[in-house]
Amino acid sequence: MTKFSDLNLDPKVLKAVADAGYETPTPIQAGAIPPALEGRDVLGIAQTGTGKTASFTLPMISLLARGRARARMPRSLVLCPTRELAAQVAENFDAYAKYVKLNKALLIGGVSFKEQEAVINRGADVLIATPGRLLDHFERGKLLLTGVQIMVVDEADRMLDMGFIPDIERIFSLTPFTRQTLFFSATMAPEIERITNTFLSAPERVEVARQATTSENITQSVIMFKGSRKDREGTEKRKLLRDLIQSEGEACKNAIIFCNRKVDVDTVAKSMKKYGLDAAAIHGDLEQSHRMRTLDGFRDGTLRFLVASDVAARGLDIPNVSHVFNYDVPSHAEDYVHRIGRTGRAGKKGTAIMICNPRDERNLADIEALVNHQIPRGGEEIAPTLEASTAESKPETEEKPKRPSRTRKPKSAAPKAEIADAQKDAAPKADAPLAAQHSDAQQEQPQPRSQQNERKSNARGGHDNSRNTTQRGGAPVGLGDDMPSFIAKSFEERMDS
Ligand code: AMP
Repeated sequence: MTKFSDLNLDPKVLKAVADAGYETPTPIQAGAIPPALEGRDVLGIAQTGTGKTASFTLPMISLLARGRARARMPRSLVLCPTRELAAQVAENFDAYAKYVKLNKALLIGGVSFKEQEAVINRGADVLIATPGRLLDHFERGKLLLTGVQIMVVDEADRMLDMGFIPDIERIFSLTPFTRQTLFFSATMAPEIERITNTFLSAPERVEVARQATTSENITQSVIMFKGSRKDREGTEKRKLLRDLIQSEGEACKNAIIFCNRKVDVDTVAKSMKKYGLDAAAIHGDLEQSHRMRTLDGFRDGTLRFLVASDVAARGLDIPNVSHVFNYDVPSHAEDYVHRIGRTGRAGKKGTAIMICNPRDERNLADIEALVNHQIPRGGEEIAPTLEASTAESKPETEEKPKRPSRTRKPKSAAPKAEIADAQKDAAPKADAPLAAQHSDAQQEQPQPRSQQNERKSNARGGHDNSRNTTQRGGAPVGLGDDMPSFIAKSFEERMDS
């Protein structure tokens, strides 16, 4: 078995690795570190959780330990798709470089340009950046990329999803042709293949097993769910989520709840809080400092439930997550693998439960094809409470609806909080054009420069034709006791009067 000491890393880096408590390199580290230290390009096909961050930071630090930083001319560059991931890489970098004198600059949105410029001006050995912010600095004339000797692209497939590929190509073209490139992606989509063929030179290809095939310590299940009525679907689904959490009991120490759309991340978090569950939302529209605070709270155990979108949670290393709930079936099968990979880490047991609507069965089939097994159907024990969901129990903290009711008061005794919830569900979804809802789901990172290569969402709700809401038994509905008397009259009677 390979040992870290066999890998030719700088002794100071080895010391930091020992401090981190790592005993043996992971397969991606054993495969990527030696060629990277030889100055070769590396194409790493690996997902988060495999130790890939150390597989590029450890050789980078070893190589950079030999030179000196120059003002405005960073010697290396790590590109990450999201701010959180960039911040996490920076944290890793600090841990592994603690015995080496290197300066790093973290260039991410949501933080002032001034502070970042000051660090660049002092001379940074390593820039860790999201593509948009990096190019903003470049365009302000504050940065030269001609001194970059090592460039890392992390989570390239996610960059593709977010429309960052043109930015990546531009950044490649701003760095010297002679640079060394370390390129990581969980999958090799044709567009990614094209980029690697264009910008990497005879790379060492290191591929590690998909997490999907090695996640035996995650107990997976899927709950089939259909709302009793389209306009109550959201309310009932949130009730189902609470029931699922409750039925897990104390085993559910903490959980990440994934939603496909940002709007649902907010609604679900709000609704959980309303029902006394300790939840907070994290998605790309929230301020960076707010997102960091929420994540820190979840990491240190002061926050129990994190409601998240894929992009915001992608690649985050949060150990000890007992449960992952997929509030929606992700529309890209790989996202399922990433999502459930948040639990069952480092040999611990985890539970992943997904709610599936009939219209998402195709996506479920894609996921099952990818993970190569049928996900057990569960939730029979939840069903009776679900049926009763239109007459729900009182929430622990009942709140008044924020907006005045535009619809007629329902006759049922549903709690006010859920009535407000139901109205919210019906209103914005009906008002918002589908395209806007779609772009909401896709544009997690604020304003990527290009939305090229956007994939079509198939997570759109289908039309529910099963109910005709305008007529029931031939009688006009919706007027209740206020029906004007002339409507009740026959045509002849009306003509007579
Ligand atoms: P990553 O795939 O980079 O997100 O890493 C996933 C987790 O594995 C992180 O918590 C790392 O600290 C941890 N890790 C990385 N390398 C090793 C190693 N060689 N042995 C044990 N844990 C590691």
